[in-house]
Order: sequence, then C-alpha cells, then structure tokens
Amino acid sequence: MTVPFLDLRSQYKDIEGVILSEVTEVLASGQYVLGEKVEAFEDAFANFCGCQFGVAVNSGTSALHLALRAYGVGPGDEVITVSSTFVATIAAIEYCNAVPVYIDVDPQNLLMDPAKLEVRISAKTRAILPVHLHGHPAPMDEINDVAARYGIPVIEDASQAHGALYKDRPVGSLGNAACFSFYPGKNLGAYGEGGAVVTSDAAIAQKVRMLRDWGQVKKYQHSEKGFNYRMDAIQGAVLGVKLRHLPTWTVARQKAAKRYLDQLDPLALKLPAPLSESQSVYHVFAIRVPERSRIQECLASKEIGTAIHYPIPVHLQAAYRSECFPEGSLPHSELAAQQLLSLPMFPEITEAQQNEVVEALCEALHG
Ligand SMILES: *Cc1c(COP(=O)(O)O)cnc(C)c1O
Repeated sequence: MTVPFLDLRSQYKDIEGVILSEVTEVLASGQYVLGEKVEAFEDAFANFCGCQFGVAVNSGTSALHLALRAYGVGPGDEVITVSSTFVATIAAIEYCNAVPVYIDVDPQNLLMDPAKLEVRISAKTRAILPVHLHGHPAPMDEINDVAARYGIPVIEDASQAHGALYKDRPVGSLGNAACFSFYPGKNLGAYGEGGAVVTSDAAIAQKVRMLRDWGQVKKYQHSEKGFNYRMDAIQGAVLGVKLRHLPTWTVARQKAAKRYLDQLDPLALKLPAPLSESQSVYHVFAIRVPERSRIQECLASKEIGTAIHYPIPVHLQAAYRSECFPEGSLPHSELAAQQLLSLPMFPEITEAQQNEVVEALCEALHG
C-alpha cells in the first residue's frame, strides 16, 4: 500500500457536485473578482473565527502584509516573531521594510517562547507576530500579557490553524487581528491562492479592505498607495462550500492524530506537543528523529510520503540572514529544523494507511 503525504483529490471527489455548481454559478454571473460569494465567505469565516470582520485577499502572505501595514508597521520598525515558520511570515515583515526580531521557540512545542519576549521589546517594536505552527495554538495569554503592558498589537499567523482552540476560544480571535492562508494544502484550502485577515477592530478591517483594493476609498480615488490583493470570486465560492465541511475534516485530523499518538507511544519519540489548554487542528503531524534522512529514505522505499517543515529556519536562509541572528543564536529553532519529519496527515487518511506508516517507521527506527 502506498501512503501519500497529502491527498487533495479524494476530498475534491467528495464535494465535486456542489463545487461544480458553485463555480458554474460564478462563471455565469460575470463577477469574477470579489463580489457576493467573497462577501458571504468573509462573513462566514469571521464568524467561524469568533471575529466581527473578515477581509479576503489573494494569499496568506498578502494577509500578513496588510495586517502589519494596517497597524502602521513601516520602515525601520521591529516585529517580534519566530524563525520556525514558513518564510512568508518573515517576507511580510520585510515587505513593510520592517525588521524581523526573532525569539526562540519552546522546544516542547516549537511555539514562540513567551519567557523570551519581554527582553526583546524595544522602542521600535511595532507588532508581535506569533505563529500557530502545525495547527498548535501559541501560548496567547502569556504573549498578550506582555504585549498589553507595552501597548503593542499582537497579530496571529494562523495560516496553519483554522479552527484550532485555545482555552476554548478560536484561533483568529486571540490577538488584535489574525491572518490565514487558504493555499490548497492548508486545512481550509482554495483551488488556487487565497488568504484572509480577521479582526474585531472596525478601523483595522476598513484599512485592510482599502489596501487590498489599490488604497481606494471610492472608485478611482486613492487615498493611499495600496495593492492588488483581491480574492477571486471562484475562490470565495469554493471556500464558502469548504468552510461548511471544515469542522468534520478537523475532527478527522484530530482522530488521525490520536491514532498516531497512541501507536507511536511505545516508540518514545519526541513530538512537538500542543499546549494542554489548546486543541490543535494538526495541519502537520511531525515527529523528531535524529537520523532524519535515513528514516525518510526508508519510508520512501516503502512508498510512504513524508515532508520536512522546514529544513532551514528562516534566520539561516541565504536570503534572510542578518548579523543580529547568526547560526547558534536560536538553538531550539535550529535543532528542530534538523530533526523534524512530517508524517502523512489529511482528513481522509485511513486507519490502514496509518498502520502502514507506523509499521514502516518502527522498522526504520529499529531495523
Ligand atoms: C502558508 C503559510 C503562509 C503563507 O500563505 P500563502 O497563502 O502561501 O501566501 C504564512 N505563514 C504560514 C505559517 C504558513 O504556513
């Protein structure tokens, strides 16, 4: 039996009928950018996140860029974030000509370590950008406490955590604003690119809405230099359908994660563990293994797909290196990047497929 790392086609097959009818409706409508379907999705998604406002954009990266801009992040400002993330988190900071200031992650969960936050705050700190990596919510109470003492906004990078809960509150409503990606492989994925900013701050929502559409206050009146970051109508329609299925898909991921956890228990592996006060949505199910390439090759030889999220932490990427964060400056992030291996995880994964993965992993480890 082959086990793919990710299988997007089986999910499409399950909802094909509704998707085709929604997409056909968009094609017939003549409204291909923004419009009714996108607005309906914005409202439904904001509600899903426990927020008042949702603004749909054309990618998660654009969502991050505009949220930062809406909070006034500009040239020379500092944004505190983590290096254990997808490069887009940092790229968005750089799009504002601001400077990423990294703090290391907690090795238990690979989330921003709030104990390291306060010492990094300076007069230039303009935002704090924690990442809910792998679908595990970051320790938001501790982060918000520090942020509140200095009056600094907290923007969640929730690109991997649609529907995750922290102390029974949904990700997206935990900071001042939150950014989501709807890249196809995300827990809520479009059939193309997509993203959104959610917030309960009317002024921020208004600002993001204006910036995504060329900084227009009215048609052809540009009060600011904005961007072409609008969401396609087809993606809005697709996301509206898929959002209704997301709770079911999330439960399926959580069940699959539980099965892995039970089966892997005897192997005593190190796993990045979600905080006990949170409910992860397992965008990624990662293990930590010292001899990663050998294990990955062993699994590949049995046609089991794996992936590495991410092999090089952003501060050590050629394009993003800075003197302030040389090799060795973020030891937990750097070690995690060497050891993390992501196992197949998607809502439709079967018990038989998971058994196959675990069996192959046991063999690879104990050969
Ligand atoms: C996917 C992702 C992004 C970027 O989203 P795009 O839609 O690909 O632009 C940003 N941050 C994190 C943590 C992500 O996983």
